[in-house]
Amino acid sequence: MQELTSPKEMREWSRAERARGRRIGFVPTMGFLHEGHLRLVDRAKQRADRVAMSIFVNPLQFGPTEDLAQYPRDLARDRTLAAERGVDCLFVPDTAAMYPTEPLVRVSPGPMADALEGAARPGHFAGVLTVVAKLFHIIEPDVAVFGRKDFQQAMLVRRLAADLDFGLEVDVAPTVRELDGLALSSRNTYLQGDERPGPLARRGLEVLRAPGVAPEYLALVDEQMRPVARVDARTAVLVAAKVGKTRLIDNVVLGEGVASDISVRALA
Ligand code: AMP
Repeated sequence: MQELTSPKEMREWSRAERARGRRIGFVPTMGFLHEGHLRLVDRAKQRADRVAMSIFVNPLQFGPTEDLAQYPRDLARDRTLAAERGVDCLFVPDTAAMYPTEPLVRVSPGPMADALEGAARPGHFAGVLTVVAKLFHIIEPDVAVFGRKDFQQAMLVRRLAADLDFGLEVDVAPTVRELDGLALSSRNTYLQGDERPGPLARRGLEVLRAPGVAPEYLALVDEQMRPVARVDARTAVLVAAKVGKTRLIDNVVLGEGVASDISVRALA
C-alpha cells in the first residue's frame, strides 16, 4: 500500500493509474477505522481496479464547540487495517496541505442542508462538501463510496457530484451495526460502558409496549445473570410481559438471534 501526504503526489498517483486504464475507487474517511469504513473499501474494490482511501479530520466541518481536538486518531492502526483490506493508496494530508490558506471560496450546499444535521450543526455540510469537492479534484475517482449511516451527507454528496458535474458515480453502502443495533462510529469510543445497554433496554421496553401488552421487565445479562455494561454475542435479553391476562416470558441470546431458535413448524 502506498501512503501519500501531498495533494500533488496523490493526483499524480491517480492520473498514472488512470493512464493505465484503471478505474479508481475512492473512500473518504476521518480515520479511526472500523468495519463500517472497511465495508466501503470492499464495495470500492468491487467497482474499481484501484482503491484510494483518505484519512483527514477536516476542521472546516467542525463547529467551534465540537470535538475537533478530541476526535479519536490512530494512524498506525488505520494503516494496518487499510492495507489488510486491500487499499492501494492511503492519502493522509495534514491541515496545511489541504488548506495552505483559509479557503475563501467554498461549496454552498443549498436547502437540502438546512434541516436535521445541518440545523444541529450550522456550517457542517458546507465544510463537508468543500473538502469532498477538493478530494474529488485531487483524486479524480471514477466511483466514490459513502455510508448510508450519514444519510443526509450521502444525498448531498450525490447532488454535489451531479449539480457540479464531477463526472463520477456516488455509491452509497448499507450501515454496519454492532450486535445490539448501534451503528458503528469512530465516536462510539466516547460512550461510557453503561451508556449503551441502558438506552437499549429502554428502547426494547418501548417496542414491547403494544396495545394489550404490559411489559414487566427487559434485562440484558450475561451467563451469570449479571447485568452487563457492554453487550456482546453472549448477552441474553430476557423479557416478561403480560399479554391480556396471561403472563409470558421469553429471551434471546444476541449472538444466536431469533432465526437460530428451533421453530415449532420445523418440528411438526
Ligand atoms: P467518517 O470517518 O465518520 O467521516 O466516515 C467516513 C465514511 O464512512 C462516511 O461515508 C460514512 O458514512 C461511512 N460510515 C461511517 N460509519 C459507518 C457505518 N457504521 N456503516 C457504513 N458506513 C459508515
